[in-house]
Amino acid sequence: MIPTQGIVEAALGIKDGKVAALLDPGVDLPAGKVIDAGGNHILPGVIEPHSHLALGNRVEDFATETKSAALGGVTTMFTYLRRQGLYDEMFPVMKEEAESRAYVDVAFHFGLMLSEQVDHLRRCFEDYGVSSFKFFMAYKGEEGRAMGIIGCDDGLMYRGFQQVAHMGQGVACVHAENVEIIDTLKPALRAAGRDDLAAWSEARPGFTEAESIQRAFFLGRETGCPVYIVHLSSAAGLEIVREWRQKEGVRYVETCTHYLTHTLRAKEGKLAKANPALRHEQDREALWQGLKDGSIHTVGTDHVPFTKTQKMVSIWDSPPGFPGSTTLLQVLLSEGYHKRGLSLEKIAEITSFNTARIFNLYPRKGTLQVGADADLVIVDLELERQVQAKNLLSYSDFSIYEGEILKGWPILTMVRGQVVMEKGEIVGPRGFGRYIYRNYTRG
Ligand SMILES: [Zn+2]
Repeated sequence: MIPTQGIVEAALGIKDGKVAALLDPGVDLPAGKVIDAGGNHILPGVIEPHSHLALGNRVEDFATETKSAALGGVTTMFTYLRRQGLYDEMFPVMKEEAESRAYVDVAFHFGLMLSEQVDHLRRCFEDYGVSSFKFFMAYKGEEGRAMGIIGCDDGLMYRGFQQVAHMGQGVACVHAENVEIIDTLKPALRAAGRDDLAAWSEARPGFTEAESIQRAFFLGRETGCPVYIVHLSSAAGLEIVREWRQKEGVRYVETCTHYLTHTLRAKEGKLAKANPALRHEQDREALWQGLKDGSIHTVGTDHVPFTKTQKMVSIWDSPPGFPGSTTLLQVLLSEGYHKRGLSLEKIAEITSFNTARIFNLYPRKGTLQVGADADLVIVDLELERQVQAKNLLSYSDFSIYEGEILKGWPILTMVRGQVVMEKGEIVGPRGFGRYIYRNYTRG
């Protein structure tokens, strides 16, 4: 499956970690090793656009979570880093920790929370190869303090957008939720003694996401900054996206697998607490429609390797997020390809091609054209397997898909020519993953 070309029958020649040739099937290539895909489909390796490593086990997450992700066909994992200071000290440490442990390639997004971080943005682009920055509209005030995040007010967002736009080739990743409204809705629910997953959703209705998307797009237009909405969750938010798309052209949008499968009535209860919150069936189906019609460009999982023990406290204190990278592709194949007619071409776009283009990794990643990194996943579309967290190798000990049978599983994952996973077993060496500097031409 080659994005822009569609499904082609071919033999893939790989040399020095790159795709070196695309030939007619059956053509004899002088090769040290031959892998027979056995009539299965080869897709560009999955690029997970949204994960939070170092929040489970601070250092070992780079090993466990990338290993777990490789089981699911992920070949590059973006993780959000954040700190209350400049990134100069943090970057070399995290890069080294990643490169000495990771099984797949890793790239960073940085959170922008402080004025001084905005002032030093140039170094992030030029020295650290980071060109995407997260703006936490949702974590102001009490919720921000609980997360250890200084959320961004509109002033910081405006200045940050200006600076990203000024650097060029960058993108502002926005967590869009209006926490000031959310904070006014919580007290009544808490006072009523509510302690369930649906209460979390009722405190953060879809319109609070939609309003913030509207504001982010507005400031994006004002400053000329490309805006990428992370984890879109609601039909109301999608409606705003479509309005802007019609009036102003493309705005980048990501959703996550859990919004495509789960609702506020999920049987997993508190384990499925996320921000934004899970929503209703009509939101879920609207998001599938958004993927089909191109309003939504990428799918991630907001993977955080929390444990059950961490999650099973009061719904108001339980940390938002759960693991997901390992099942990203299977969910799209099972629920998208098999159940809703989402094409394989589309799946390759939303799991790899679009992500690579939006985050300046293309054409090194995101495709299987000659010259690209040989990052790929072979999928058996008919293979059915039951999800069991204990087999997923994560630091976390649960999956919101526990016990579910998904149809369509990766059977081989390759990163830069190295087989990392074969038939469900990790074979790739720890520390093979590299930190990926994004393309940036000094402006
Ligand atoms: Zn996140």
